[in-house]
Amino acid sequence: MTTHRIWIKNPLALFTATDQSAPGGLVIENGVITELLVAGATPSLFIDETFDAREHVVLPGLVNAHHHFYQTLTRAWGPVVNEPLFSWLLTLYPIWARLTPRALELASKVALAELLLSGCTTTADHHYLFPAGLEEAIDIQVGAVRELGMRAMLTRDSMNLSKVDGGPPGKSVVQTAEVILADSERLIHRYHERGDGAQIQIALAPCSPFSVTTDLMRSCAELAERYDVRLHTHLGETLDEQPFCAQRFGMRTVDYLQSVGWLGPRTWLAHGIHFNQVEMHRLGAAGVGICHCPSSNMRLASGICHTLELENKGAIIGLGVDGAASNDASNMMLEARQALFIQRLRYGAKKITPEKVLGWATRGSARLLGRRDIGELAVGKQADLALFKLDELRFSGSHDPIAALLLCGADRADRVMVGGQWKVCDGQIPGLDIAGLIADHKLAARELVNG
Ligand code: ZN
Repeated sequence: MTTHRIWIKNPLALFTATDQSAPGGLVIENGVITELLVAGATPSLFIDETFDAREHVVLPGLVNAHHHFYQTLTRAWGPVVNEPLFSWLLTLYPIWARLTPRALELASKVALAELLLSGCTTTADHHYLFPAGLEEAIDIQVGAVRELGMRAMLTRDSMNLSKVDGGPPGKSVVQTAEVILADSERLIHRYHERGDGAQIQIALAPCSPFSVTTDLMRSCAELAERYDVRLHTHLGETLDEQPFCAQRFGMRTVDYLQSVGWLGPRTWLAHGIHFNQVEMHRLGAAGVGICHCPSSNMRLASGICHTLELENKGAIIGLGVDGAASNDASNMMLEARQALFIQRLRYGAKKITPEKVLGWATRGSARLLGRRDIGELAVGKQADLALFKLDELRFSGSHDPIAALLLCGADRADRVMVGGQWKVCDGQIPGLDIAGLIADHKLAARELVNG
């Protein structure tokens, strides 16, 4: 294999996600970071390609730890614009039940392209709709991720309780536990990559503990243990989960999580808002990860995550944009800005710095996905980078480049690299016909809503 070395030279600013500094930039060899350079230093070995980054703020590629790609087809849909979570879900399920393979492919590409252009290099997705004809939904998503050249943790979601069994969705989108578990094993065997540099990974992810049976929750935990993959679900998103859980299972949500073998470091939860102090302590002590989704939580008026309390008790905090019917953007930089502001409302300005929030959006989210090879700029890590220019009107007159990204509202990267390969150049994705994609996606969105 021939060696290819790239020097990202003398950046305007560089955020490593740790306390290292590298004003001279960094050196990448075959997709992996091999040197961080002090001011005035030059690479120790011959360089094939130099990228002059004097106008760029360099971040580790952002990592999105929670999404539902298919929801890009129902953004800002009139009937649910002003609805809270439960009625929002019940109104949308019959629409989503019509999802087709082609619509999912387009929706996934749109979400991925939007994320990539915002500086995101790795994303999770939580797909839970498998109506007849869409049994290979995750396979479709794998194709879209590979086409865009990003990394992804695709979670094989599941629902085996429909409305008639006391779950939220209609009958046509739920599957039996046997089908769900067999497909989960198939996907792990077929796609789950292990080790540094993995592009596609699979996790097991019942939509919520209330949309599957207790047996299926337990079986997912056992399967995850057997194959060493991660577990993901929604929990603690709204207050009404607690009485619902008490009524159905006779216990609170965290007790239920423990009772089905989910209270451990393999699990990361979307939202994680409504827990008491003792429960936060238990989640932290167990090493459970929490994906904070500020835009969605504000949009649906669900509540504000207790990020610092959870973190102080040992939980890992990361960020996610959540599904595009509750955000309705798939932009990781705007999500970090929202996290900065909403968390300042809870904890004050001094404790919630831009660096802290960018840490959640990079290293924190990477750890939620069980990854140590991405999310920070350090020797031995994957060369996943997001480079931003501060040349737009909105940045004019700004001083601290890292703070400016969030305070002035950066929303589009100038360059993005995944594993040493440029995937965004001059704010564009080479080879992707964005206008054509938008036209096809718009049509699919209209067809889905109109039936
Ligand atoms: Zn979600």
